[in-house]
Amino acid sequence: MKDCVKAEVRQILTDYLEQRNHRKTPERFAILDTVYSLNRRFSIQDLSDELEKSNFAVSRATIYNTINLFMKLRLVICHRLNDGTLYEACHSNENHCLQICSICGSVVELNVSDIADAIENIRLKRFRKERFSLYLYGTCSSCQARITRRKKKEQNIKQNI
Ligand SMILES: [Zn+2]
Repeated sequence: MKDCVKAEVRQILTDYLEQRNHRKTPERFAILDTVYSLNRRFSIQDLSDELEKSNFAVSRATIYNTINLFMKLRLVICHRLNDGTLYEACHSNENHCLQICSICGSVVELNVSDIADAIENIRLKRFRKERFSLYLYGTCSSCQARITRRKKKEQNIKQNI
């Protein structure tokens, strides 16, 4: 993530904490920096491992509470996928369109401007749109190839009986 984005999100967190007279604990800023340095979707475990690597041991409870705060501030988005919950820094990228393989669980971010345009143009009553997440489920090409190979193998066995 670009340094200017990191500075922006730090400012959002600083403003929020100052306005509410909350303490500006170094843990919260370390977690924010780590989230915005990962450049990928992550689980709470991934985040905890990453913080430990930089010698910043933070309790699970603190990580969960901080991530919940970041979601409230719209700095982090949560994806509930087949394999569990993954989080992602979202300050500079609010809309998400993910392609998910139902077999191996691989996740690929799609950039489909047609979908974004279509959603932009939808008129909703008494509702102001802010952002969207779209999950497309299917079978990735490697899983598809594996299935085809297995089917061929089964056919060959049948023919040889
Ligand atoms: Zn797959």
